[in-house]
Amino acid sequence: MNDDVVERAIKSSRDPQVFRALLASVKRNVGFLSKKPILMEVCGSHTWAISHTGIRELLKDEVELISGPGCPVCVTSPGEVAQMIELSYRPGVIVTSYGDMIRVPGRGGSLEASRAAGNHVEVVYSAMDAVTIAENNPEQQVAFLGIGFETTAPAAAVAVELAKARGLGNFTVYSAHKLMPPALRAILSLPDLNIDGLILPGHVSAVTGRKYFDFISDYAVPAVISGFEACDILYAILKLVKKIRARDFSVENAYPRAVRETGNTKAMAEISKVFRPSDAFWRGLGNIPLSGLELNTQYSSFDAKVRFGLPPVVEEPEPPGCSCAEVLSGRKTPRQCRLFGKACTPSNPVGPCMVSSEGSCRAHYVFGR
Ligand code: SF4
Repeated sequence: MNDDVVERAIKSSRDPQVFRALLASVKRNVGFLSKKPILMEVCGSHTWAISHTGIRELLKDEVELISGPGCPVCVTSPGEVAQMIELSYRPGVIVTSYGDMIRVPGRGGSLEASRAAGNHVEVVYSAMDAVTIAENNPEQQVAFLGIGFETTAPAAAVAVELAKARGLGNFTVYSAHKLMPPALRAILSLPDLNIDGLILPGHVSAVTGRKYFDFISDYAVPAVISGFEACDILYAILKLVKKIRARDFSVENAYPRAVRETGNTKAMAEISKVFRPSDAFWRGLGNIPLSGLELNTQYSSFDAKVRFGLPPVVEEPEPPGCSCAEVLSGRKTPRQCRLFGKACTPSNPVGPCMVSSEGSCRAHYVFGR
């Protein structure tokens, strides 16, 4: 199969033959480059898929695949984690959270430990579940921990609007949502970062659209939006390798069956209606101006930070010995952390990158042994 046939086949195929042809094409095209390219993915689902499908191993001699700040649980800063834990100890408060978040260690233990201590921490699968819990528990305050990127923020925004429409005075959102562009700018500006291409997140891009990432071309780093099937990822890698060779720094969409130029404008409008950009701490990247989302003034009664009088988030240290900060900014691989697989395992995680199913350390531990 030549490259053109592969490119046509990928659009509709999960065929193993296409996978093999793409793999061969990547290896052939890397041969035209002067060095082994370093590609960073900035999506936790890609982190998992690249390990799970064996792509990392199959391309280990041709391409170095590293992870960036794409795992929602992992990038939530130690200061935010500490506030979430502190909130769960407040009398009369039910903290609702996505599952992985409750195991993240932080100052004060973890949400899981807080629950074991008798506090009310509930795992939910959506922000709407938290609204339902608030309706069913009118005597208690229900705080939903909003984490993630442009993908999860629209659902949190809709939940706030629903709570407002239903007159729920006991529902709030603790917003730890993050925005991708400021973090990517921070990564691409790191003086010691050495990457040749970016695999951009398909889920985020489905909401934001391709154009949202056009700024990346200012940094002279090629970028390609990828889907999540094994063939999608190989196809994106193939495109990146070709773009590196051609010095083509445009942002390309290799996931057109889900991503449009301008994305989901309704979802983006929901974000803008309920939230506004705010400075935010990221694990691994520190405080990045206007990289988070806080509730707009007209929704401030649904803001957990306002309702519970929480102070501004401050920088907090990483767990002793944990290299998550370096892993999330592409400066270390999980195996370069001295705790990896020894003191830190999925059943006894020291840092969030080993907790989350989208965490780089966990993916390397589960599939790389
Ligand atoms: S192996 Fe554990 S301690 Fe080391 S960086 Fe990963 S999560 Fe942190």
